[in-house]
Amino acid sequence: MIVKLCKVLGILFWVGILLACGNEPAPLEQAVQPVQRTGLTDGDDWHVEAAAQPETITDAMGFVWQTEQFADVQILRYQVPGWDQLSLRQKQLAYYLTQAGLAGRDIMWDQNYRHNLAIRKLLETIYTSYTGNHDALGWRRFESYLKRIWFANGIHHHYANTKFVPGFSREYFLELARGSGVEVSAEFMAVIFDPAVAAKKVELDPDKGLLESSAVNFYAPGLTTAEVEAYQRTLVDPADPTPISHGLNSRLEKDNAGRIIERVWKSGGLYGSAIDAIIRWLERAVTVAENDAQAAALEKLIEYYRTGDLRLWDAYNILWTGTTGGDIDYINGFVEVYADPLGYRGAYETIVQIKDFDSSARMRVLMDHASWFEHHAPFLDAHKRKDVVGIVYNVVNVVGEAGDASPSTPVGVNLPNADWIRARHGSKSVSIGNIEQAYLETSGTLLADEFAHDEQEIEWNRLYGEQVDQLHTALHEVIGHASGMLEPGVGDPSETLKNYASTIEEGRADLMSLYFMPDPKLIELGLLPSPDAGRCAYDDYIRNGLLQQLRRLEPGADIEEAHMRNRAWIARWVLEQGRADQVIAEVKRDNQTYYDIRDYEKLRALFGRLLREVQRIKSQGDYAVARALVENFGVKVDPALHAEVLARAEKLKIPPYAGFINPRLEQVLDSAGNIIDIRLEYPQDFATQMLSYSKQYGFLPGPMTDAP
Ligand SMILES: [Zn+2]
Repeated sequence: MIVKLCKVLGILFWVGILLACGNEPAPLEQAVQPVQRTGLTDGDDWHVEAAAQPETITDAMGFVWQTEQFADVQILRYQVPGWDQLSLRQKQLAYYLTQAGLAGRDIMWDQNYRHNLAIRKLLETIYTSYTGNHDALGWRRFESYLKRIWFANGIHHHYANTKFVPGFSREYFLELARGSGVEVSAEFMAVIFDPAVAAKKVELDPDKGLLESSAVNFYAPGLTTAEVEAYQRTLVDPADPTPISHGLNSRLEKDNAGRIIERVWKSGGLYGSAIDAIIRWLERAVTVAENDAQAAALEKLIEYYRTGDLRLWDAYNILWTGTTGGDIDYINGFVEVYADPLGYRGAYETIVQIKDFDSSARMRVLMDHASWFEHHAPFLDAHKRKDVVGIVYNVVNVVGEAGDASPSTPVGVNLPNADWIRARHGSKSVSIGNIEQAYLETSGTLLADEFAHDEQEIEWNRLYGEQVDQLHTALHEVIGHASGMLEPGVGDPSETLKNYASTIEEGRADLMSLYFMPDPKLIELGLLPSPDAGRCAYDDYIRNGLLQQLRRLEPGADIEEAHMRNRAWIARWVLEQGRADQVIAEVKRDNQTYYDIRDYEKLRALFGRLLREVQRIKSQGDYAVARALVENFGVKVDPALHAEVLARAEKLKIPPYAGFINPRLEQVLDSAGNIIDIRLEYPQDFATQMLSYSKQYGFLPGPMTDAP
């Protein structure tokens, strides 16, 4: 599961990525906002000269974090800390794995919609051959349209699923086509301009027809939801304790006799030419694997791609789950099923990642001291674990992504997905540190500058923001979720606390982190640079819980998401409880609202009181109190304050979605042609990377899957 990570602060705290520990489809974006459209009609201003497009964000060291913005998207770049600590052999492994990943890039395009690759080719041809005015407004809109399609791996919005509306007219488009020497068929004109054609990639409203109204290409046109559901039922053996993921790697079609057939994605099957390229690179990866377990897993993955046998996919996942020894890890395959309205078929995805060496060291320290934290937690004695081990949780840095994971990327991943494998063999959970860093560099300080009460707060945030953010995440994950215990005979929180279980658990883990954040122990362990850094963590939490996070809600909406709720009920509860003592002062200035922490020690005591109570709620399964806490403090939004936050956030112009340019891995050869190093290069702009990907990794020749 992508972003099924239980993380709370991270980027979500600072920038506001939606994360969930539950089973929600991955909202990978910085916010959920309606898609902006520029509806232009014929005769509009498309020949007018366009204004310059600046909007790069560069840091003091000269690194360009953001290369551009368009529509509702910002394009960022990430650095890869730790790359230089890898051996040449490890760098080669990362290189082969990223090449394998990119080799499958076009699969995802075809999966998303059967005309995506042809439309992309058409638009890229125009983009690279049109000789007319490139400064005209119409051209800029064409460019923006193409960039949105690149960003979404197809003609539908990656999050909203609706088809992009071109910001230019049919006439202007035909003019571009003529000026580029290409013909556009009537069918493709309809695909681009007719709102009724392929209107939605994934339709989740059963009344509209899940398959019937979805443009996604997992099923041949004409197959009905009922037919497919009936077919899938015939595959399932309810007595099988280790069921394969039926349908994960195939497209369903009908043969000439009208029978449903599966076209399997494998070597020699559908997408075979791209899969063969993937296999070739994976074979090279095997030769430089870090250890035998990693090599064995890669070999199993190759076998699976050769045969399409889903038993081998499971066997591979078991091996992969057990491979924890190396510094390099990867995801490669048909993994997440969110793009299938029926939830069977996996989108092609790849991520290649290296260990974050600094944060691994941090986690190690916390795990080694897990008992100390448990012992010093403000829990009732009956709710303390006698012997506690921290949860294994890793921070990684990505070095390359493709398919479902790019350009829009998750910030956390927890795999494999098969429940029985998770139960028997465990899973691997990571948070992607360098992606979070890029978000922080480009949006984090803007928000703090706007919503912070005073200069001191802004200053601390600049100095310590990133560090306390990482520490909070680590405390939340490693210490928070691992702490406390249920009273004998009390059922699982999912039974006792029901719909409040996840927000209570997330809040509990947050409170463990908040309670210990100013503790001298953290400074002693070398995890926190100074007491001010602990105060910075409090400022940021309160500011986010009371103000900043409201920017992600539609006007009039309640807070629904578990983490958003817990941040609200924690921040509002301490605000309320500390009101008499002015622990947190509410300040109005220029008609704007600010919160100023006046007494950090009393605030810590309030967090401690709440933590003890929340642990009691969990340990005793106290549904009534859980409900009261969440409903009274974590759900409703003051409409006036909400409107104010939206207006203040709006003027910062932080786009709701972000995507990434990947570094390019370049082999460095000596005079004899031997590889002596692999260097990371950072491409300057999005279009260059997208065009070179199309050229280099266009392994799917011609239309793959026209309707039979
Ligand atoms: Zn969590």
